Amino acid sequence: MSDSTDAEPLSDKSKPGPSAKVPEGKSPDSKPHDGRSHDWAGSRRLLRLLRDLMKERGSSQMKLDKIVKLIAQDIVAEVCSIYVLRSGDVLELFATMGLKPEAVHQTRLHVEEGIVGQVAALALPLALSDAQKHPNFAYRPETGEENYQSLLGVPIQRAGRVIGVLAVQNVTPRNYTDEEVEALETVAMLLAELFAGGEIALLDETAAGDDGQGKPMRLDGLALNDGLAIGQAVPHTRGIVISQVIADDPEEERERLVTAVAEMRGAIDDLLARADIAELGEHREILEVYRMFAEDKGWIGRIDEAILSGLTAEAAVEKIQVDTRTRMAKVKDPYLKERLSDLEDLGNRLLHHLLELDGTGPQDLPDDMVLIARNLGPAELLDYDATRLRAVVLEEGSPTAHVVIMARALNIPIIGRCRDIVTSARPGDRIVVDADNEQVLLRPNEEVQATFASTIAERDRRKEIFAATRDLPPVTLDGLRIALNINAGLLIDIPHLHDSGADGIGLYRTEIAFMVRDTFPGVTAQTELYSRVVEQADGKPVVFRTLDVGGDKVLPYWQGEVDENPAMGWRAIRIGLDRPAVLRQQIRALLRASQGGELRIMFPMISDVAEFETARALLDREIEREGVKGRTLPSMVKAGVMLEVPSLYWQLPALLDKVDFVSVGSNDLFQFHFAADRGNPRLVRRYDVLAPGFLKLLHGIASQASAKQVALSLCGDMAAHPLEAMALLGCGFESLSMPAPSVAPVKTMIRSLNLAPLKTLLPSWLELPDHSLRDRLRSYAKEQGVEL
Ligand code: PEP
Ligand code: MG
Repeated sequence: MSDSTDAEPLSDKSKPGPSAKVPEGKSPDSKPHDGRSHDWAGSRRLLRLLRDLMKERGSSQMKLDKIVKLIAQDIVAEVCSIYVLRSGDVLELFATMGLKPEAVHQTRLHVEEGIVGQVAALALPLALSDAQKHPNFAYRPETGEENYQSLLGVPIQRAGRVIGVLAVQNVTPRNYTDEEVEALETVAMLLAELFAGGEIALLDETAAGDDGQGKPMRLDGLALNDGLAIGQAVPHTRGIVISQVIADDPEEERERLVTAVAEMRGAIDDLLARADIAELGEHREILEVYRMFAEDKGWIGRIDEAILSGLTAEAAVEKIQVDTRTRMAKVKDPYLKERLSDLEDLGNRLLHHLLELDGTGPQDLPDDMVLIARNLGPAELLDYDATRLRAVVLEEGSPTAHVVIMARALNIPIIGRCRDIVTSARPGDRIVVDADNEQVLLRPNEEVQATFASTIAERDRRKEIFAATRDLPPVTLDGLRIALNINAGLLIDIPHLHDSGADGIGLYRTEIAFMVRDTFPGVTAQTELYSRVVEQADGKPVVFRTLDVGGDKVLPYWQGEVDENPAMGWRAIRIGLDRPAVLRQQIRALLRASQGGELRIMFPMISDVAEFETARALLDREIEREGVKGRTLPSMVKAGVMLEVPSLYWQLPALLDKVDFVSVGSNDLFQFHFAADRGNPRLVRRYDVLAPGFLKLLHGIASQASAKQVALSLCGDMAAHPLEAMALLGCGFESLSMPAPSVAPVKTMIRSLNLAPLKTLLPSWLELPDHSLRDRLRSYAKEQGVEL
C-alpha cells in the first residue's frame, strides 16, 4: 500500500471549494452543487425514496442502477458508484451513474488499490476535494473518471466487515461536509441490509478471505494470554440481524429505545450482582463502567437523533456504532480506545434488547469451544460458560484490553491481532490455538491435531506433577534453599500465592489497580485496597512497588502529553518525584495498610542513587508524619529499588550501602541493555536474555549484592522459565519472583539441580562471543538430568 496512511479520513476542509459549475450536458440528471449541506431531513427523504424503490419490481441490477441515480441526484453529485467486494479481496464496480456504463462488472480494484480500495482497506470514509492529486489515485481509462475531481467514498459494512464501497464524485473541487458523509454512511448501511437480506442479489459470494475449500491455514497473531488449546471454532455471532432500517413511525421507535435502555440497565445490574462477578475484585470495576455508560445521555441522545433522521431504533444504534468504530480507528490513546470498545459492547447489548434476543449467551455450544471474534467486550466474554471455553482468538485486541484482563483472570489462552480469522474460520472448524508460539492453526489435519493433543495431554500430566510439588521446599540437590515468590497486581491474583505454595509476593504492581479504575484512588481507597492485599497474603511477605505508570501504562484520569519515547519518558519514579503528593499519598496508604506489621516498599525505574535517596526521604517524612499523628507504624520498613536501568549498575557500590534490598526488573533492564523496545513484535526474538553479555551483567549484580550482603531478587519474566531460572541461579540469584503458574515448573527444576558445578562453570561461558548461551545451557541441563 503506497503512502496510504497519509490519507485524511473524512472531509478535507483545508482546501477552499467553490460551488461546482457542472459543464453543460455533462450530467443531465444532476444539478450543480449549490453548497447546501445534506442534513438529517435530507437523509430521511433519501431513505424514503430508497425504501419506495425497493417495493418496485425488477432485477437486482435495475434496482442498483436506480439507487445510484437517486443518490447522485439527492447528494448533488455527477457520479455515484457501488463497488462490491468479491472473493480474492477484489472490489468490483456493480453499478454507476456517471462513469461509463461499460465499466460495470469490468472495473475491478484490489482492496488498497486506488482511493476506493483504500476506503475498503481502512474501513473509513474518505472525502477528497482533489482526488486526482491523492497519492493513491488509480486511473482506470475504462471508467472515464478523469473528468471528476472530488470524491467521497464510504465503506459498506456488515457485522463489522467491509463488503463494498459507495462513492460519489464531482467534476469540480468540492468539500463534502460531515453531514454529507453521514448521509452517505446511512445509505451504505441500508445497502448492507439490502445485500444481506437478499433483496438485492449479488450473484456471487461476497465472503472475503474464505478460500471456500476449507483448506488448513496457519495464521499469526499476538499472544495476549499464554497457553495451548484445541477445539471447535465458535464465531461470536451476536445474533443481530437488522431487517428494517427505515422507520414507519419515529415516535414509536423512540419509545422502543427508551424501553430497551431501561431493560439493559436492569440486566447490567443483575450481571453485577452475580456471585462470581461480585467476587472479582477490581475486575468488577471494569463492569461498573458499563453502568456509567448506560446512563450516558450523550450516547443515548445521539441514537435518538439518528432515529429522528428516519432510522429504526436498531438501525440507529448500529449507525452510532459505525461512528464509534470510525472514531476508534483514529484514536491513538489506548485508554480511550478501550472505552470506545466498551461502548461498542454496550451497543451490542442494547441491540439484543431491541431485537428481543436472548441476552444470556449462546446455548448448545460445544464443550471445547474456541471463540472467534473481531473484538469482544469483557462482559461479552462473561456471557459464555468459562468451563467450556478453551481459548479466544480476536482480530483486534491489545495486552491492556479489558477482555484480556478478564481472560487472564479466568486462565483462558487468548491470541489477538489475528488478521482474517473471522472470515477464515467457519463454525465447527477444528482449531488449534498455540498462544505460546503466537499462531492459530485452522482446520489442521489429523496428524497435526494428534501432535497438539498429545502436547496438551503431556502438559496436563505435568500440571498434576507440579500440583504435587506445592508443599515441597525449593531446595537444590546440594542443599541451597531458593526463595520463590509470585508477581501480582490484582486481588484476584492473591489466591494463587497460596495455591502455588510460594513464599510471598515478590512484586505487587500497584499501578494495575489504578489502571482499571476511573478516578484516582485517594489515601482511604488505597489504604483499603492494600489492607486487603496484606490480609489476603495471610502473613506471607508482600513487596509493594510504588506506581509504575507512564509509558504504555496509561491512567484514564491523567491525560498528559504523550511522550515521543514512552519507555524512556516521564514514567514510574520520575513522575513520583516530580509529583511528590502522589507518591506520598501512596506511601501513607501503604504505611497504614501494614497495620503494625512489616512493610516492604520498592521504587521502580531508579536511575541513580540520588533518586533513591529522594524517594527514601519522602518515605521517612511520611513515617515521621504518621508517628506525630499517633498512628500505628509498621514494625519494620524495608525500602528497596528495582534495578531496571543499566546506569544504576555503575553506582551499585554506593547504592548497596543505602538500600535494604534490590530487585532486578529484567524486562526493562533487558530492553535498555539491548536498546530493543520490549513491546516491538519485530524484536521479540532478536536478542536473548541468555546472551553472555546480559548474564554477565546479572552475574555482576549478584556478586556485588552478595559481597555486601544485601538481599537480591529478580522479578522480570526471565524468572518464569526453568532454563532461564537455572541460569539465574548459576549467576548467584537465590530469590526469584514470577507469575504464579511458573512456580511449580521452576521449583521442579530447582529440586533436580546440583548448583555448585554450574556456578563454577558459568563464569567462563560469560566471556564467550556467542549470541546466546541457550543451547549450551540446555545441553548442560540434559546431561545433568535437570528437569526443565
Ligand atoms: C520488569 O521491568 O522486569 C518488571 C518486573 O516491571 P514491569 O514488567 O512491570 O515493567
Ligand atoms: Mg519494569
